[in-house]
Amino acid sequence: MTPLARLLVQRIAANGPISLADYMAECLMHPTHGYYSTRDPFGAGGDFITAPEISQMFGELLGLWLAQVWIDQGAPTPFTLAEMGPGRGTCMADALRATRRVPGFHAAMRVHLVETSPTLREVQRQTLAGTAVTWIEDVNALPQAPLFLIANEFFDALPIRQFQRDPAGWCERQVGVIDGQLAFGLSAPAPLATLEHRLADTAPGEIVETCPAAGAIAGHLGAVIARHGGGALIVDYGGWHARGDTFQALRAHTPESPLASPGAADLTAHVDFEALAQAARSQGARVSAMTPQGVFLERLGITARAQTLARGLTGAALESHVAAHRRLTHPQEMGTLCQTIALTPRGVPAPPGLDP
Ligand code: SAH
Repeated sequence: MTPLARLLVQRIAANGPISLADYMAECLMHPTHGYYSTRDPFGAGGDFITAPEISQMFGELLGLWLAQVWIDQGAPTPFTLAEMGPGRGTCMADALRATRRVPGFHAAMRVHLVETSPTLREVQRQTLAGTAVTWIEDVNALPQAPLFLIANEFFDALPIRQFQRDPAGWCERQVGVIDGQLAFGLSAPAPLATLEHRLADTAPGEIVETCPAAGAIAGHLGAVIARHGGGALIVDYGGWHARGDTFQALRAHTPESPLASPGAADLTAHVDFEALAQAARSQGARVSAMTPQGVFLERLGITARAQTLARGLTGAALESHVAAHRRLTHPQEMGTLCQTIALTPRGVPAPPGLDP
């Protein structure tokens, strides 16, 4: 048992079962035992690998996307250049390098990173040495100013709740204790006004996921962007209209039960882009259609960039570069597993790369 498993078993035995959201939040962000609080989980020696760690092309193209959206809105000065959940800071570093020659961009930017993990903040500080950075705990601390923001694999780490449909309403899926071990259970069924609209497209026994934090964050981003201008690009595993159980754990690149090693495995759930879009729209932002990552990167010119970079490479380095391009864009890899949407104000040019 992990130290956090022992703690949770004691707490649940004393106080009763907890929601998946509470379980996920403890596993990822517990101050001393949380997955992100204690480690740098990325890369070959870690538990999973993300797009910016696969290739510099990802951050470069996202940086140029932000610069184009900034130019399309008249290059407002100053503006907030932000990233949510920046991991090792690789994406931001690549974005900054790619935008160095965009006239006025660096002089006008105020870099803000939304990050709760002290360990990863330290890694980001090293990666971004030489750039003035403000770290904040949550989006509410972003300046009321034009906001140009990226969020890659951020929303899939936010705590979800799961509800199983029952003839008598909805049962919340919970984490309890059976024979001294963590185990899934269900609350008593009750009607739920917030899931009324899901009665039309689910049957008894089916699971629906909600992510309260995601809607709140997307709503806040939408409000700042609608009011002050800007653009947010959200990239993540997921789809339109959440369906079924997508709660999953990954440890050393291998799937395991989300209850197997709390605090020592990455926990994620697929992102419901429809919920993000609705929240942002309700605050006055315009939301693009959901566009597959592969299509988005191709439209931004990843193939031309890949060819340029390939000219300087031979042997194993060239092979791994070609594999990285494929991994980011191929429909059977991240190309369609990962999806993108963009938030902008109404009445500005549509952002590049995304379906309108
Ligand atoms: N975007 C990075 C890292 C993705 S992992 C990349 O693509 O490589 C998720 C990141 O979000 C980590 O940096 C993690 O510490 C951070 N994070 C998770 N939950 C968070 C929360 N509630 N608030 C702020 N940061 C969070």
